[in-house]
Amino acid sequence: MAEVSIRKLNKMFDVTHVVKDVDLEIRDKEFVVLVGPSGCGKTTTLRMVAGLEAITSGQILIDDAVVNEVPPMDRDIAMVFQNYALYPHMSVAGNMAFGLKMRKFAKPEIETRIKRAAAILGIENLLERKPRQLSGGQRQRVALGRAIVRDPKVFLFDEPLSNLDAKLRVQMRVELKKLHERLGTTAIYVTHDQVEAMTLGDRVVVMKDGWVQQVGEPLELYNTPANRFVAGFIGSPAMNFIEATLAESGGAVVAEAPGLRLTLPGPQAARARAKAGRSVTLGIRPEDVHVATASDSPDLCFDSTVEVVEQLGSEILLDTRVGPATVVASVDPTMRIRSNDKLRLSLKPERLHLFDAETEVAI
Ligand code: ATP
Repeated sequence: MAEVSIRKLNKMFDVTHVVKDVDLEIRDKEFVVLVGPSGCGKTTTLRMVAGLEAITSGQILIDDAVVNEVPPMDRDIAMVFQNYALYPHMSVAGNMAFGLKMRKFAKPEIETRIKRAAAILGIENLLERKPRQLSGGQRQRVALGRAIVRDPKVFLFDEPLSNLDAKLRVQMRVELKKLHERLGTTAIYVTHDQVEAMTLGDRVVVMKDGWVQQVGEPLELYNTPANRFVAGFIGSPAMNFIEATLAESGGAVVAEAPGLRLTLPGPQAARARAKAGRSVTLGIRPEDVHVATASDSPDLCFDSTVEVVEQLGSEILLDTRVGPATVVASVDPTMRIRSNDKLRLSLKPERLHLFDAETEVAI
């Protein structure tokens, strides 16, 4: 069993506050991903869990024991780094054995563990090679192997796939997921790539400027983002945002922007009614915008001019202009659409998001 509790964790580098009151309870066997833009404090948080960075204030517990002062070597965690950090002069087997030798494991036990990890990762035939004789993907496997042989309580991953090319990254992502299913070791994984976060995480922690913005299962973040930042960060292509003003009109609540007048559907209207007269940001994902048909309610239709057509095979992405705003729509790939076409668009009512224009919090 391995639970990790992070309580009111803070980190200052001199006067710069880079991790701010981070609270996180990571359950046994859970795969938690910390994601956010460069500089948001995710790596520093991970390094504090590893013991590689001193804590300014707060607590880190592994299985109910406070580890703030415990040296990295004694935390029973294994970390996989972005640059793999392999010893160039040692063979693959030597690299995998190193941590175990340091911990005074007996030779037969070391050999058994290396064999088992090598079989899991499919690197049995590489054990005698040196790191320079390996491809990027193979080096990454060795770095994973070095963590696996330790059979630690917790795996920590710091952007382990970012040095791989796009195709290999996807392949290794799937392998990491399988590996976690097989080993069931509690894992904390840092990335700036939201696709990696969504596909790997049981839960995802979105960070910005040192603050946790939202913690949730991937679909929870996608469907009910807590604020505009999370809404824009999760999902690809990114959510469309349109600045609008709310007004009450004949009992309904309408959102008005240049070139756009939407009558809010019931649930959103109920939440937004108190904000009539105020500015809001409308949010709608490209996959929730479609070319209007006769069955669409005029309440949620608007006119657009197509600026760019991107045919992706499985979908067409349209960059359209609506008043001063750009609205991206993902539409049926069989449609014949050209730039400068005038299109009437509509959206799925239940998928319309509203954010307070000032606080950016979801309404
Ligand atoms: P990235 O994806 O670029 O690694 P990150 O979200 O992991 O970003 P951190 O590496 O945790 O961010 O860095 C958070 C902030 O702390 C950044 O502004 C960074 O410049 C600063 N920082 C990190 N390490 C140090 C250090 N040793 N001394 C001073 N400032 C640091």
